[in-house]
Amino acid sequence: MDLLLAKLASRRAQGLYRQRHTLSSPQGVLVSIGGEKLLSFCSNDYLGLASDARIITAFCEAAAMYGVGAGASHLITGHSAVHAALEEELAEFVAAPRALVFSTGYMANLGVVTALTDRQSVVFEDKLNHASLIDAARLARAEVKRYPHADTARLAALLAAAGGPKLITSDAVFSMDGDIAPLAELLALAKQHGARLLLDDAHGLGVLGAEGRGTLAQQGISIEEPIALMGTLGKAFGVFGAFVAGSEVLIETLIQHARTYIYTTALPPAIAAATRASLQIVRAESWRRERLQARIEQFVAGAKALGLPLAESPTPIQPVILGEAADTLVVSQRLREQGILVPAIRPPTVPAKTARLRITFSAAHEASHVQRLLEALARALR
Ligand code: PMP
Repeated sequence: MDLLLAKLASRRAQGLYRQRHTLSSPQGVLVSIGGEKLLSFCSNDYLGLASDARIITAFCEAAAMYGVGAGASHLITGHSAVHAALEEELAEFVAAPRALVFSTGYMANLGVVTALTDRQSVVFEDKLNHASLIDAARLARAEVKRYPHADTARLAALLAAAGGPKLITSDAVFSMDGDIAPLAELLALAKQHGARLLLDDAHGLGVLGAEGRGTLAQQGISIEEPIALMGTLGKAFGVFGAFVAGSEVLIETLIQHARTYIYTTALPPAIAAATRASLQIVRAESWRRERLQARIEQFVAGAKALGLPLAESPTPIQPVILGEAADTLVVSQRLREQGILVPAIRPPTVPAKTARLRITFSAAHEASHVQRLLEALARALR
């Protein structure tokens, strides 16, 4: 117990202690926290669909039809017609032979990496990969080689030096930086070295590419061997869960060997039904992506005019990197005092000395919201 208390105290002393906000409103750009109404720039609800009335209706109708809990894992009796239909639609959406629905993106990454590797394998990870990809390789007990962010020359050297089965893993859009991985080069290296390639497009699907088909589609890369695509449903889709898309053999391998798929209760069928409704909206309502893009451009132009330390990000994730955790917390607090919610992202989520404000935009933001944010940032950073 003393050890735990000491660890907590040390977190606090370093300015790294984390606390939750308790929302009493639906997710959206205006949220209520403890009676306070705040303008939020922190969700991953990029298209403003988390509280969409049509998706809520689909969810309620499916709950009335299928019940709430799936009641069993997919391989026992938890797999319903609505899961099967969603998997077919997701596969078609990303133009892959097959897709498999997982309960969360975190579990999907653990499942893919552990199913595709063993102790003889080598897993290559971009240094800025999401925690779930890092944890996945640890769980697989594979040898791990981390390469500097987006450094394909270094990755090539590591691949050339390694023996055993190889798996390259990368975020497609980096979750804390918003930049896009060098996908074509990663694919070429994977092919050249006989490696598999797991791409995590949690932040690109729904947002990038025609109809929101994701980062690969935006870059003209089709999903074929050796690619496994992981997509999440709790961000632009506004729902919950995740999927993996790829070849017939990949998906059958996951059904047989992905323990995070096999040994867990299936996603509630009503969530799958809500996701089917969301998928139609994501594809059809390209005005959401256009609006989102306009807000991003407005922010980048305004932030540059203010001289803010922006990162090179073409996506709705716009980090303002301030360096020290304590300074970042102060700025986040000053924004909060002006009614604006922007989280301070600190180590260990990001590397030491790169604490940042992680600003995210949604199609639901108005131009006036972005203007308010810029004015508040100018005051907070003065
Ligand atoms: N990958 C990335 C890049 C993410 O940002 C996240 C969510 N933070 C996940 C995976 C995990 O997805 P989920 O929230 O569905 O577990």
